[in-house]
Amino acid sequence: MHRQRAYDTGRYMSTLADFSRAEIDGGRRLFGSEWTFLSAAGSVASLPRQGGLEVAFAGRSNVGKSSLINALTGRRALARTSNTPGRTQELIFFGGPDRLVLVDLPGYGYAAAAKSKVTAWTRLIHDYLHERSALARVYLLVDGRHGLKTVDETILDTLGQAAVSHEIVLTKCDQVSEAELAERSEFVKAAMRNRPAAFPDLIATSARTGTGIPALRAAIARLVRERT
Ligand code: GDP
Repeated sequence: MHRQRAYDTGRYMSTLADFSRAEIDGGRRLFGSEWTFLSAAGSVASLPRQGGLEVAFAGRSNVGKSSLINALTGRRALARTSNTPGRTQELIFFGGPDRLVLVDLPGYGYAAAAKSKVTAWTRLIHDYLHERSALARVYLLVDGRHGLKTVDETILDTLGQAAVSHEIVLTKCDQVSEAELAERSEFVKAAMRNRPAAFPDLIATSARTGTGIPALRAAIARLVRERT
């Protein structure tokens, strides 16, 4: 266990040092505001009407997506965390200030999921990613302890085909040593190099210790400033 580590990952990661004071303050303000559940959609037909900018979070079941959304928004239970992988098969929409919408995409890669469920998931995500003009970026969460898995490649391919801007966020970094983190990030960065829609940098986070959360908030604040 390597909790409370001061990560010296500037060489590999986006850190707060990469953002201006205005972006950091902007991130703090955005996520210090009220965030509420807007709606859930289990099919393309039930997607809510597009309003403001959407920022989506994707990742394997159990990657720590709900925990990260809760850490970002400072809400303990905005997104429901669970130890039951593969539970949520819906896109969940959360609304915040400046018409910013966070979208929790259903987790994938749950080994015990029925084939029909996987097919339905694939279609839903494919359609959402291809058709959502409000979607500004997808943060693809990757477990910092394990790195990129084959199953992540599928969504990376879809993101590339749909030309959706995306960036990797490593989760649970409190469980990873500095050396492992450096090695894992180099590997991930090398894997992303041939993907033009992918951000070359990644952000290392821990919902448990709060590492990387202000940087991710600042990155989203920058995006909001760029796009609005
Ligand atoms: P989701 O299925 O992707 O939404 O994942 P959850 O947020 O429900 O988290 C899955 C499991 O990982 C839970 O047992 C969490 O307590 C744990 N977890 C989530 N984030 C972290 C983190 O930053 N550090 C550690 N050590 N565990 C975490």
